[in-house]
Amino acid sequence: MTSIDLDNVQNVIVTGKSGAGKQPRIDVLVEEFDLEQLSTGDIFRHYLGIFDKIDYDEDLSQFWDEKQNRFLADETIANEIGTEDNDVLLGLKAKYFVERGLFGPDYIVNALFESKFAEKDYKNQILDGYPRTLDQAKFLLNLVSEKDVSLDFMVLVDNSDERIIKRTVQRRICPKCGKVYHLTYKPPKNGKCEKCGVDVIQRSDDTEEKIKSRLQEFKKKALPAIEYLKDEGIPLVKVPGHLEEFTPENVRKSVMDEVEKLVKQ
Ligand SMILES: [Zn+2]
Repeated sequence: MTSIDLDNVQNVIVTGKSGAGKQPRIDVLVEEFDLEQLSTGDIFRHYLGIFDKIDYDEDLSQFWDEKQNRFLADETIANEIGTEDNDVLLGLKAKYFVERGLFGPDYIVNALFESKFAEKDYKNQILDGYPRTLDQAKFLLNLVSEKDVSLDFMVLVDNSDERIIKRTVQRRICPKCGKVYHLTYKPPKNGKCEKCGVDVIQRSDDTEEKIKSRLQEFKKKALPAIEYLKDEGIPLVKVPGHLEEFTPENVRKSVMDEVEKLVKQ
């Protein structure tokens, strides 16, 4: 195995089941390695926001070709909505899937990701929620090699299904900025987001049934993607998503103890 230079980390993947406790671990890595968090959720919200600015209210399904299982040509879409701005087109495609409760096919997710990653010069990022499938992992590996940047290591935040189910049903989220709260561990003051002041909500997909289906999805799709990258030589460290005593110091130590082992390998 190639040894890792922790003084020159360019990109890190943080992965784990939805609800495993990724965010506090990401916060540690952001600070320790001076990185930015690039999350798929934020990327979707970003492009959705760009599309929403053009005030187009017609049904988006007219742009989707059921038979071909893909969007109509960009030129056709651009003619109808009155702009050929690529970010707006990406936003429209993202919105089409979000409205249907889907993340969308790999080629769309890859396009959204690449566009935002390019803005960041392909480095100093913590990839959160990406890659989520084998195709996305392959795309990412090609991209970093093409752009001559490194994908230094992956962090898998480990947690049990039982605990995740218990935690997730109490999760609340800000509909405006996406900030996550928890009724027991991180209660929103007066039920409102501390940044935006709007009422936090329970996401419709935070029911037990939907959580279980996401856990299945992670095992079926995201784990093979991680395994693939590991086989391709990207080091993987596992950190606990649950600590007996949850303090910032304990979280930091539980992450950095594992990451520092990479140097000694
Ligand atoms: Zn908010």
